[in-house]
Amino acid sequence: MKKLIVASNNNHKIDEIKEMLKGFNLEVIGLKEAGIDIDVDETGKTFMENAEIKAREIFSVANGNMVLADDSGLSVEALGGLPGIYSARYSGGHGNDKENNKKLIKELQGVPFNERKAKFICAMVLIVNDITVVKVQGEVQGYIVEEYREKEAFGYDPLFYVPELKETFADVPAEVKNSMSHRGRALDLLKDELSKYI
Ligand code: IMP
Repeated sequence: MKKLIVASNNNHKIDEIKEMLKGFNLEVIGLKEAGIDIDVDETGKTFMENAEIKAREIFSVANGNMVLADDSGLSVEALGGLPGIYSARYSGGHGNDKENNKKLIKELQGVPFNERKAKFICAMVLIVNDITVVKVQGEVQGYIVEEYREKEAFGYDPLFYVPELKETFADVPAEVKNSMSHRGRALDLLKDELSKYI
């Protein structure tokens, strides 16, 4: 079975991608499972630049296996697009979801609900081999709720209210989130291409 290395150590991200690709005859693994211990510097100015930086660096040590990089985050209209590419490290340290959520609530204090528009963005870069590189981007629109109820969930999911669902992403089953999320939409655009190389 062919392997697809997801260029990430974020278990939430890896698990979602595994779940969404489970119909494919493909072994989907994260960096740890692939035995790759590299922390890629995200020096790009856009999600897509960062996804490509991660994909290329990991592909260079991937022993010819395919590599999929996902660079994603939250863009809040009232904050001029922040936290954007800084989503993982909004509150300072890398990947502290609770502190990031608390900071976002604080920054939006006093902003009425209808002005709390936000979108999740996911840029994906798939490297199949030295010549074939596929780039896609998915987005989903929502609103940032006014109150943060701490919860075991992925990143900003407890704050991201989706009008069509009348719930936040943290309050719906994984398959519901995946069917319409930024990551799900990006992967949908990739699936045809990916199926050519399995
Ligand atoms: P990356 O690993 O540099 O792409 O950073 C992604 C960050 O964006 C995560 O640490 C989360 O804070 C946020 N993020 C991306 N996708 C999601 C999602 O599906 N739900 C919640 N937060 C997300």
